[in-house]
Amino acid sequence: LRCHPFSKAKKCCYTTPRRAAIYRYRVAVPLRLPTEPDGLLDYLSPTPLEIGTPVSVSVRHHQTLGIVWSESSTSLPIESLKTITSVWPDIKLSDIERHFIEQISRYYHQPLGRIAHLAFPPDALRYFEKPPRARRNHLPTPMPTPPDITLTADQQRIIDCIFPKQHTTESFSFKAHLIHGITGSGKTEIYRHLAHHILEQGKQVLWLVPEIKLTPQLIQHLAPAWADRLVALHSHLTPAQRFKAWQQAVRGEADLIIGTRLAIFTPLPRLGLIIIDEEHDASFSQQDNVRYHARDVAVWRAKLHNCPIVLGSATPSLESYVNATQRGLYTYHSLQQRAIAGATLPTLQLIPPPSKESAYPWSDILDQAIQKRLDRNEQTLLFLNRRGYAPVLHCVTCGWSSECRQCSARMVWHKEDRRIRCHHCGIQQQTPKTCPGCGHPDIFPMGLGTQRLEEALKLRFPEARFLRVDQDSMSKKKSWEEALEAISTGNVDILIGTQMLAKGHHFPRLTLVGILGTDDALYSADYRAPEHLFAQIIQVAGRAGRAKDAGEVLIETDYPEHPLFRSLLQHDYTSAAQEWMTERQNAKLPPFSFWALVWAESRRPEVVREWIHHLYKNTHAIFLDTTQEVTITPPMPALMEKRAGWHRYYCLLQSEHRSSLHAALRHIEHHLYAKKNDRAVRWRIDIDPQSL
Ligand SMILES: [Zn+2]
Ligand SMILES: [Zn+2]
Repeated sequence: LRCHPFSKAKKCCYTTPRRAAIYRYRVAVPLRLPTEPDGLLDYLSPTPLEIGTPVSVSVRHHQTLGIVWSESSTSLPIESLKTITSVWPDIKLSDIERHFIEQISRYYHQPLGRIAHLAFPPDALRYFEKPPRARRNHLPTPMPTPPDITLTADQQRIIDCIFPKQHTTESFSFKAHLIHGITGSGKTEIYRHLAHHILEQGKQVLWLVPEIKLTPQLIQHLAPAWADRLVALHSHLTPAQRFKAWQQAVRGEADLIIGTRLAIFTPLPRLGLIIIDEEHDASFSQQDNVRYHARDVAVWRAKLHNCPIVLGSATPSLESYVNATQRGLYTYHSLQQRAIAGATLPTLQLIPPPSKESAYPWSDILDQAIQKRLDRNEQTLLFLNRRGYAPVLHCVTCGWSSECRQCSARMVWHKEDRRIRCHHCGIQQQTPKTCPGCGHPDIFPMGLGTQRLEEALKLRFPEARFLRVDQDSMSKKKSWEEALEAISTGNVDILIGTQMLAKGHHFPRLTLVGILGTDDALYSADYRAPEHLFAQIIQVAGRAGRAKDAGEVLIETDYPEHPLFRSLLQHDYTSAAQEWMTERQNAKLPPFSFWALVWAESRRPEVVREWIHHLYKNTHAIFLDTTQEVTITPPMPALMEKRAGWHRYYCLLQSEHRSSLHAALRHIEHHLYAKKNDRAVRWRIDIDPQSL
């Protein structure tokens, strides 16, 4: 199909009478700033095509994956249209899938073509043309089948409630469930049983997990029974592996699809259940490129496919908790006992941080507790959510500090390779030998990162065996599996880690958790910070005492009277949630009002400021003033005003009615699309923003 219908070439296929028919289609292509909001372009085809078929088309002289979206009734002259280059008829997006994509595109105010693209793996075009060699998707070697765990009465009750023994077709229709179960209460066992029910029905299960590092353990756990019917979908696969796994899922050859947020868009012909583990986790929200929240997207998807969805967490997001307990949108299930008989929740205790005179960057109480664990041959975990050696280098003489020139942030010192790095934009440089401000040779690392903590611990406890788990030490693919192995075989005495270590892992010998450096989050400008801190501490604390040994958790803080700690020390999520609800209801914060941001960014601060003030003035005057249902705030700089060289500003739109908010956004969008594209400014709309 390589030639144009009106090509002058002598041997053109269109010039022969029997090929003269021409079909016009609207094709979804991923334009960043589309000329039309829907991101559909018109193309020609010499043969009729089925709607939903992936094709290759030329966009701005590049071959791009497109999806045939609808027939076109364009009045544009044929000469101005391009022809579809190639067609891959084996795979097709069903009507439901397309409907789903349209809904998501409308909700997030994102061009349809960009959302449609999420249903395909990157490099899909390349592999459609040249399928990857049939190498099996990498799965860890299955471990011996775990003993069939007897379910507790609580677990059984929830399973029976979701899929009653006498099931009817209704049991398999759309219904959203929230399982609120304390750490170690055996939520995974429930998911496993639910998945089993659905697989028995010949349907597919989509199981989302927050962190890719969790999948090897989960897959190992599930593989013995389902090894040949299971695929994993996440960004750590090679492009060929990911395409292969995707293809198996799309063709219905795989029944159980385990993945991170990106898997939520995978077309599945027989979808029967969606599971979202740790539904509160921030990693389900995609912050760059196309913005969406995989948990919310999943609920729509389940609704459209008319299948149940199960969300689970020890500390549900306030949104889900309100949906379950106040709005009656989700069925609420609670699990308040640990699954292993005799295992209790660890005791939480607040301790003062080390004083200025302390020899080590942790308190004496923590020091004695660690020593006690070493004597008893038990494990300790020290949690510090700050990687690197020290968060900043500082000169006492002139006050210089290692600011990033591209971001409103400081560069972190990494002692191992003697470099300073910005954790936001990624730039790095050699550590300066003398102060760049005044030339004085004494510049000091200030504050505590995981590397520095490890160094100090090694000096204090020279006989202990250490393992540090953070993004820097776990950058190699194998290292995480090796680390888990070392932890579970008891080859580690003291673990030091960031949040990477906090989730889902089962460490039987761990009886002490020390939590350092949480105070910044207590008085953060982000209204969600207390919720996130609560979740994080409960998660980390949950690693301790999962077996029969009771666990102890020591939290260093200067603010023991902070209200957050009252409910935290009691492991009382419910009363904490009540407090947040009252607070947010009074202040009209989400989930009691709906938010959207219009972002603008530019490399030149004065340009972006003028652009957004102009937008504010216009929208405020013409539209928003007349309806009382939507309010728009004057432009504000982002909490981190400059990032990777871009100055970022936003206007916040608020409403208690979702429909009014979206109507206002459509109006703004219209205004923005009509505007001459100013290359110096990038803009985007952010629905249900997770950060400011
Ligand atoms: Zn200086
Ligand atoms: Zn930076």
